[in-house]
Amino acid sequence: MMSRRDALKTIALTAGAAAWSQTPLLASSLAGTGPHLQAAGGASGAAPPAAPTGPFTLPPLPYAPDALEPHLDAQTMTIHHDKHHAAYVNNLNKAVAGKPDLMKLSVEDLLRKLDTIPADVRTAVRNQGGGHANHSLLWPSLKKDAVQAPSGELAKAIDKTFSSFSGFQDKFNAAAMSVFGSGWAWLTCDPRQAGLLAIETSPNQDSPLAAGRVPLVGIDVWEHAYYLKFQNRRAEYVAAFAKVVDWDTISSRYRDALEG
Ligand code: MN
Repeated sequence: MMSRRDALKTIALTAGAAAWSQTPLLASSLAGTGPHLQAAGGASGAAPPAAPTGPFTLPPLPYAPDALEPHLDAQTMTIHHDKHHAAYVNNLNKAVAGKPDLMKLSVEDLLRKLDTIPADVRTAVRNQGGGHANHSLLWPSLKKDAVQAPSGELAKAIDKTFSSFSGFQDKFNAAAMSVFGSGWAWLTCDPRQAGLLAIETSPNQDSPLAAGRVPLVGIDVWEHAYYLKFQNRRAEYVAAFAKVVDWDTISSRYRDALEG
């Protein structure tokens, strides 16, 4: 997110432009950067960084970067969203550029149809599209004062599949700990099998969508998701993450998946 630091930089450069405006060359070169700086300063509120050209855009973080403190820290949230997620969006746009058949699909549909994506961009769509879809699902999964347990059909299905919610949580956390290298742990459901629940892991940015399953919630265990605050202590991050998963949101995703 373009932040106070960028706003301050804008002010400093503006002041500099005023002081040095008697130097035509410098004044004109500063004027040339004006609109860009103005745009950056204007984005100091809730707006995401400058949108890349292309069909895919970075969704704004649905809360302030510090909303999940003290569990997940503001600096990690800011970099994770504004830099990492933004890069997946930018690179996905590059991958589909000049391919109108791909540009008109949602990122979820691109991943569901991964096998039919032209070979020259399939890996880019898998990695960058997966990164975009996975993080787009992640941000709204989390909430300050999150509801701490599932409800409705999801509560019943979790009890049936994992004995209890705490039984589920133990297995989910163990899956998150088991990922070697970068990847995700998921709770998924399979609409083709009456919403059958499963805990699974995926490497890199691979999405369960590519296998026809619906991700309900996923924990990002790439080091970029936790290293600033937790360093090597992934277990502490996994425990902190559980505190901010909003099970109202996840329960309603399950309802939507059952309704197809
Ligand atoms: Mn990530």
